[in-house]
Amino acid sequence: MMQSVLRLLYPAQCLTCDALVEQDDALCGTCWHGVHFISGLVCDCCGVPLPGEDSDIVLCDDCMVIARPWTRGRAAFVYSETGRKLVLALKHGDRTDLARPAARWLLNATKGLLTEKTLIVPVPLHWRRRVQRRYNQSAELGRALGRLSGLAYRPEVLERRLPTRSLDGLSREARFEALAGMIDVPKVHEGTVTGQDVLLVDDVMTSGATLAACAEALNAAGAANVNVAVLARVAKET
Ligand SMILES: [Zn+2]
Ligand SMILES: [Zn+2]
Repeated sequence: MMQSVLRLLYPAQCLTCDALVEQDDALCGTCWHGVHFISGLVCDCCGVPLPGEDSDIVLCDDCMVIARPWTRGRAAFVYSETGRKLVLALKHGDRTDLARPAARWLLNATKGLLTEKTLIVPVPLHWRRRVQRRYNQSAELGRALGRLSGLAYRPEVLERRLPTRSLDGLSREARFEALAGMIDVPKVHEGTVTGQDVLLVDDVMTSGATLAACAEALNAAGAANVNVAVLARVAKET
């Protein structure tokens, strides 16, 4: 009764537009169609959708030539249209409320990569950046995923040594160069990672340079296995 009265007073709104929807944390039909959720054949390493219906493990062209210091990876949707809007709102728009529905999509995409003991570790933001932006969108995602899955959430495990300048507009090589050695596992937290299965979480994967720097640090600290999960994967126009 109370619920329905509240619903009349405050009807739920679509996550990305003004349209009214039937429940909280939902998208309206139009916005839903603008999210290109990834299903079917994907690259096992970065989650990018691939044409065909191969049942074997396949890799995309990029993952065949670029070193990926992690084992497997999945993405919930393609970085385009409403998917792009969701990522930008979570990153720059103070829309931390998006982390909860996003975690649901992320869990759906990464189910096959998780074990009971997987540690959820977000890509870190340098503390100075975090003060500027007030929160780290990857940490918001990781925390929500931890809550939803019941898995341990360990944001302290990775640290950024210096604030990295924006990677926008840099070539792939320059991105990898800018991030090499910039992220590490603080000595006091090495024991948390050693021998463990880690799911590295980020909002979006473009070149994979940030994820590679994080995975290398986790491997150096003795992680048994590192998988990656991103909300959105930038896919080349085809
Ligand atoms: Zn909408
Ligand atoms: Zn790939």
